Amino acid sequence: MPHAGCPHQCTFCNQKSISGQLKSITPEDVDKAVRIAVESSPEGEGEIAFFGGSFTAIDRGQMICLLQSAKKYVLRGTFKGIRVSTRPDAIDEEICDILKENLVTSVELGCQSTDNEVLAANKRGHTVRDIEESTELLKKYGFEVGHQMMTGLYKSSYEKDIKTAEKLISLFPDTVRIYPTVVLENTELCSLYRSGEYKLMSDDETVELCAKLLLMFHENGIPVIRMGLHSGGNVEEGYVAGFYHPAFRQLCESRIYLRKTLEYIEKNNIKKGNVLIKTAPSAVSSVIGQKRSNLDLLRQSGYSAKVSASADVGRFEVKVEEQI
Ligand code: SF4
Repeated sequence: MPHAGCPHQCTFCNQKSISGQLKSITPEDVDKAVRIAVESSPEGEGEIAFFGGSFTAIDRGQMICLLQSAKKYVLRGTFKGIRVSTRPDAIDEEICDILKENLVTSVELGCQSTDNEVLAANKRGHTVRDIEESTELLKKYGFEVGHQMMTGLYKSSYEKDIKTAEKLISLFPDTVRIYPTVVLENTELCSLYRSGEYKLMSDDETVELCAKLLLMFHENGIPVIRMGLHSGGNVEEGYVAGFYHPAFRQLCESRIYLRKTLEYIEKNNIKKGNVLIKTAPSAVSSVIGQKRSNLDLLRQSGYSAKVSASADVGRFEVKVEEQI
C-alpha cells in the first residue's frame, strides 16, 4: 500500500523506494497476489497482509473493498487471517469494528519512537498518547498488536531508543519489528544528512543498540519478528546511507552471544586458554559469528574457543567450560 492514505510526509519516508511501486492497490491485485502466494505456501497457513502505508487511513470505501476481497480467502480457509499496518492515530472504534467484521487478525502500528520531540522532529504527525490509546483499543478488540520502532532517527539517541523500547514493553505488544534508520533519496532526512544536520549512528553502534533492544524484548516475552528493512522493493535504488544489511538480525544475535560469552567468562573466572562454549543447537552459527568474527575476538582476548550444541542451554544463553 505505497503511501496510500497517508496525509503526512515523515522525514525518512520515501514509500516509492520502499514499496517499489506507486499505483494504488485494487481488489484484482489482491486476487493476483493470492494466486501467486497459494502456489508457494501450504493452504490455510499464511496470512494476507496490507503493509507499507497507512491502511486504515485510506479512502473508507477502498479499504472495505480490499478487506472484502481478502476476507473471502479467509472464509474459504485458503489463508488463516489478515494483517494490516497503519499509523497510531488512524485507529478508532469505527475502524476496529470494520477490521473485526472483515476478519483482520493483526494490526501493526508504526510507532517509530515514544519520544514526542523525536516524533515531531521527524514529522510523524502523532504523539506518544496516540500509541498508548491505539494499542489499548486494539487489545480491547482482541487484535494481535504489533509495534514497529526505528532506531537512530533524527534527534534521537542511543538512550532515547532504549527508552522507546522500555515504553513499548510497558504496553506489551504481541510482536515488534525493529528498523535502523536508512537514509533514502528524495526525503527530507536526506537533505538533513547531506547538510550535516543529521548524523547517523555508526554501524557498530547500530548493531550494539539493536542487539540490546532484541534482548530486552526477548527477556520480556515479546517476539521480535523482523529486524532491518527487507531487501528488494527498490530500497537499494533509493539508498543513500545507513545500516542496511541482509543478515542484520544475525549480526545482532551474534553480538548478544559475544556479550553473553564474555560475561560468563568474567563472572566464572574462566582461565585463558582453550574453552568450549555450549549453546542451543539453533544458535551455534550466531555464537561463532559471521566469518568467525566472535571466535577471532575471543582469541584476541586469549581464549581459543570451540562451540558445541547443547539442548539444555536456553536461547541467548551460553555455558563456557575450560578445556585441558
Ligand atoms: S506515516 Fe508512514 S506512509 Fe506516511 S509518510 Fe510516514 S512513514 Fe510514510
